[in-house]
Amino acid sequence: MKKAPITNGDGEISALFASKMVPAYAAMDESAKAAYRRKQLQRIVRYAKAHSPLFADLYAGLDDDFKLSDLPVTTKNELKERFDDWVTDRTVTLDGVLGFMKDLDNNGKLFLGKYLAFRTSGSTGSPAVVLYDKGTIHVTDAINWERNFPTLQDRNNYFIRGCKSASLCCTPGFNLGSGTLIYGQSVNIIRRFGSKLFGIFTPLPELVKGLNRFSPAMLTGYPSVMSDLAKEQLAGRMHISPVLVVSCGEYLPDSSKEIIKAAFGRRVINSYVSTESGPAANECPFGRMHVNDDWIVMEPVDSENKPVARGRADKWLLTNMSNFIQPIIRYEMTDRIIYHDEGCPCGRTTPWVEVEGRTNDILRFRGEDGEVAIIPLLIYTFLNNILDAKSFQAILHDENRLEIRIEADDMARTFEKVKKDIGEFLAKKGVRAHIYLSDLPPGPDKSGKFFHVRNAPKSEPQP
Ligand SMILES: [Zn+2]
Repeated sequence: MKKAPITNGDGEISALFASKMVPAYAAMDESAKAAYRRKQLQRIVRYAKAHSPLFADLYAGLDDDFKLSDLPVTTKNELKERFDDWVTDRTVTLDGVLGFMKDLDNNGKLFLGKYLAFRTSGSTGSPAVVLYDKGTIHVTDAINWERNFPTLQDRNNYFIRGCKSASLCCTPGFNLGSGTLIYGQSVNIIRRFGSKLFGIFTPLPELVKGLNRFSPAMLTGYPSVMSDLAKEQLAGRMHISPVLVVSCGEYLPDSSKEIIKAAFGRRVINSYVSTESGPAANECPFGRMHVNDDWIVMEPVDSENKPVARGRADKWLLTNMSNFIQPIIRYEMTDRIIYHDEGCPCGRTTPWVEVEGRTNDILRFRGEDGEVAIIPLLIYTFLNNILDAKSFQAILHDENRLEIRIEADDMARTFEKVKKDIGEFLAKKGVRAHIYLSDLPPGPDKSGKFFHVRNAPKSEPQP
């Protein structure tokens, strides 16, 4: 095999290298795979140590023979405290990025002409800013092209249909889905015409109309929104025929799987994606999400960061081997997972993973015409778009009382914006809510878990 150039300079992975190595990895034998992963890991660790003052501190004295377990565990809160030292480009500052992100039209544009900027959307802690260099995007693209399709036939069908792809995203906002799509449209002509962004805040009839007109071959989005669309399809108001339906961003419950299958005549494909990891795992024809272990390391651990060989793990540690601007190495991911290494009938030898989700997190408001179910993500998006808030939380109590907890320099002003945005959104859904500012700061629930948006348990007193 002719060698593809690894980087475009500045450490970032070249498009050629990514598009060549993602398929090549699948064809390697086990020892070649292990050697390749080792090289990948050494490259990112070496780069982080040389270019990130924060990692230079963490890795002082580390030589090239290191074991992964020699590297200290990192957490979002520790790293974001030292954002300017975390990144590997000395012209990048948090103030600079936040200034750039104040203008929502910059979503999908390159900060300093080099980096895409996102806010994390994990369920715990407060959000962090994550940058992708072009290499991270090249790897994401290559994995999506090679591994989003369980079979070659799926990929051919998609290709025959002109690669028409509809993504249901939270817009506006600097999230991974919409940002990479808008960027892709700006640099790739097929995507400019073949891909379309549909905002999930669009009223359902309008969304249905738009999708009917676009007629996508691939539909990607949050399972809760796709379930709503599946009902529209079953009711005969929507009539699209995607060859691939991909779920991401949320836990995919069995009920959603069933209704989506009934509506579109195909199994919904699950993928595990986060801002920090990019595509972490993709489904095979046997419905198992195989870890993309050539570009990330997934270490399942217990609550004390002790390794869990297989089975249920409280969380996992992520090492992203494609992000050179903002190294993410042994970084705590708070999703609970079930980790499998026992092989799979599809023949892939990479480990596979189940992501355990929460099922009781739908918010149920009382509307003018009965109950209105709202997924937490919708409320979360409003809160996450308010950059002045250092951390935030919304808790739904009985009688449509929505408690807002925030930490911000100007509490009153920040709260007024939250109240207005969420209030208007709920009003459109026929919900009149009492939105009020809490005296309490954002904090964990009784079990010690932190959720940005949650229902108050019946026993929890109302502040
Ligand atoms: Zn498999």
